[in-house]
Amino acid sequence: MYASGRSEPAAASHGVQGPFSIRTPMVGGRVLEGRMMWLLVPVAVLLSAIAALWLTGERGHLALPSTRAAWRAARSGGGRGNGGGRRGGVLTAVHGYVYGRWTEQYIRLFRRLAPRMDPEARRAWADRYHGKVLPTELACAIIRLDHDIKRTDLEHVIPYPMARDILLKGPPAVTLLECPCRLGKPEHCEPTRVCMLVGGGDFTLDHHPTKAHRATQQEALALLQAEHERGHVHTAYFKDACDSKFYAICN
Ligand code: SF4
Repeated sequence: MYASGRSEPAAASHGVQGPFSIRTPMVGGRVLEGRMMWLLVPVAVLLSAIAALWLTGERGHLALPSTRAAWRAARSGGGRGNGGGRRGGVLTAVHGYVYGRWTEQYIRLFRRLAPRMDPEARRAWADRYHGKVLPTELACAIIRLDHDIKRTDLEHVIPYPMARDILLKGPPAVTLLECPCRLGKPEHCEPTRVCMLVGGGDFTLDHHPTKAHRATQQEALALLQAEHERGHVHTAYFKDACDSKFYAICN
């Protein structure tokens, strides 16, 4: 009891000297600290999920060689196309990574979204991902190339804003991939390993080793002929996420 007759402040009973409690802000600080800890939980969960997704994407590696190469190309401005304007960069690299790594899921998502898009949005999307029909002889000629070719400003012959150039080093490396478009449908035609990546494919081989293999020139030509005889159409594919360049023959 104080001389004034007031009771001893509660803080004193907690072992704090003097009439003013310094325990109160500490208790408040602890509450704040506790809340901060709870706020950190979702951040930690999110970061763990991103890390787990990344490690899954990289098949347990920190970064596969083709991922490092793609990252270097994106950072060094490898996205500038022969036809002029700025392309690529980090965002395109991320888009290309998602597309190349989770192609089946990417296509499945697009199939769900496309019917809900308005015509303008669908048109904008189509302008970023398109194919040009190739007669079998021309598809075979690309595979048989024995010298480099570089054609710029293809917009004159391929009416798509993204299709500006073809750059192929002959003879191009050919990688055959299980067609994600076919596999995305329960009822699909056979065979499925017909997606022909031309002049590249290292990323696909690194990230989908069980679904892709490097083909010889003979194997690629035989596949084109077999697809032609099955009545399937070949198309040259261009996509913004693949640096807006020709990158595959679709069969
Ligand atoms: S073969 Fe054609 S349909 Fe199949 S994944 Fe390749 S581009 Fe798509």
